[in-house]
Amino acid sequence: MKMRKNIKNFKDAKKVIPGGVNSPVRAFKAVGAKPIFIEKARGQYLHDADGNKYIDYCLSWGPMILGHANKNVLGKVKDVMAKGTSFGIPTELETKLAQMIVGAIGSVEKVRLVSSGTEAVMTAVRLARGYTGRDKIIKFIGCYHGHVDHLLVQAGSGAMTLGNPSSPGVPKDFTKHTILLPYNNIEMLEKAFKQYSEEIAAVIVEPVAGNMGVVLPQQGFLQAIRKSCTKNGSVLIFDEVITGFRLRYGSVQELFGVQADLTCLGKIIGGGFPIGACGGKTKIMDNLAPEGKIYQAGTLSGNPVCVAAGIATLKQLKIRNPYAKLDKLTKSLCKQIGETLEKAKVPYTINQVGSMFTLFFNSTPVTDYVSAIKSDTSRYAKYFTQMLNAGIYLPPSQFEACFLSTEHKSEDIHQTVAAVCNISF
Ligand SMILES: *Cc1c(COP(=O)(O)O)cnc(C)c1O
Repeated sequence: MKMRKNIKNFKDAKKVIPGGVNSPVRAFKAVGAKPIFIEKARGQYLHDADGNKYIDYCLSWGPMILGHANKNVLGKVKDVMAKGTSFGIPTELETKLAQMIVGAIGSVEKVRLVSSGTEAVMTAVRLARGYTGRDKIIKFIGCYHGHVDHLLVQAGSGAMTLGNPSSPGVPKDFTKHTILLPYNNIEMLEKAFKQYSEEIAAVIVEPVAGNMGVVLPQQGFLQAIRKSCTKNGSVLIFDEVITGFRLRYGSVQELFGVQADLTCLGKIIGGGFPIGACGGKTKIMDNLAPEGKIYQAGTLSGNPVCVAAGIATLKQLKIRNPYAKLDKLTKSLCKQIGETLEKAKVPYTINQVGSMFTLFFNSTPVTDYVSAIKSDTSRYAKYFTQMLNAGIYLPPSQFEACFLSTEHKSEDIHQTVAAVCNISF
C-alpha cells in the first residue's frame, strides 16, 4: 500500500488544523495508524490520495447507505444547486422532506430541520426541559449524542477511545443534571426514577447503540424506559441519528414496538450532506419558537442542497426497500468472519442488526459499556491496519459500527472474508 501522499497530506494538515483532522476519530489514533486522505469515492469504494482503493465499511459513519456518489442523489443536488444554494427563507423542499419523515415515523407529527445530529439532540433536550419545566436528563453510559456539553459524559467512541470520558471545557455545573446509567439495566433505571421521579425531564437513548460498538437493547429495556417516562411525565428521546432509515424505512420504534416522544435524526436523512432533525408529537413540537417560547434557530437549517440530497436518498430507500437484502448480506459477512476467527482461535463477539455490526475482540457477550471495553483494542488495531493494507476500510476504532450499503456485493464480502483469513493476530 502506497502512503507517500497520505503522509504528506497529514503533515500539512497538522500545521493548520488541530491534530490534522476536523473530527477526532479521523486521526486514526485509537488504532495507532496514520490517516488516509480521500480523493474520491464511488459506490462501495473509497480511493485515497495515493491511489489505493478500499471497500468502505464506515460509509462516512453511516449516511452513505446508497453507497458513494449515488447518481440520482448527485443529479437532484445539481439541479437544486443551479437555482441557488441558500436563502434563509423557506423553500418547498423543506416541507417535502418533513412530509417524508412524518410519513415514515408514526410518533413524529412535526419535525424541525437543523444542520447536524448534535444540533438535533440539543434541540430535543432543550425542548424536553422547556416542555416539562424540569432539568434532569437520564443518559446511558457509552451512548453518544453528539458533542453537546451536558451530554459529553461517558459518551462512547471518540470520547472513549481518546480517554476523555468527559471533556475539559465542560463546566461541572453543565453536567450536574445528567444522570448516567448503564445501558440495558432496567433495575438501575427504575431506581433512578424512584429517586428523582418528577425532576426527570427526559431519558435520551440510542435505541440500538452504535457508539460503543453496536449494542442491542435487550428484551424489555426500551419498553421499561417507555413505561417509566409515561408514569413520571418525562419525555422519551430516541436518538436515531444512526438508526433512522438504517434498519428500516423510518425508525426502529416500529421494530421494537416502542414509541418515542421525540426522535432525533441525522446522517442518512442528509444523503451525505450536513443535516439533523428533531421531531415528535405536535403538542411538544409546537413549543418551539416561533409557535412556542423555546428558542431554536439556524442560518443554514433546511438548506436546499442538503434537503434535496435527503429527499433523493429517502425516495430511493422507499422504492428499493433494500433492508432485507442488506440484513442478509451483513449476516453472511458476520457469519463468515465468525467462522474464520473461530478457526484462528481468536476470541470474539459480533453484534449485528440489519446493515450495522461490530466485531468485538472479546469473548463475552457485549451488552453495555463495561462489557464493550473488555475488548482487546490492541488486537483491533492490528486487525484494522492489516485490513486497511488489504484494501478494506473499517472504522478506525473498536467502539464504532461497521455499515454496509446497497452497493456492497457478495464479491466484496468474499474479498473481506479472505482478508480476515490472512490476518496474523
Ligand atoms: C453521529 C451521531 C450524533 C451526532 O451527529 P453529528 O451530525 O455528528 O453532530 C448524535 N447521535 C448519534 C447516535 C450519532 O451516531
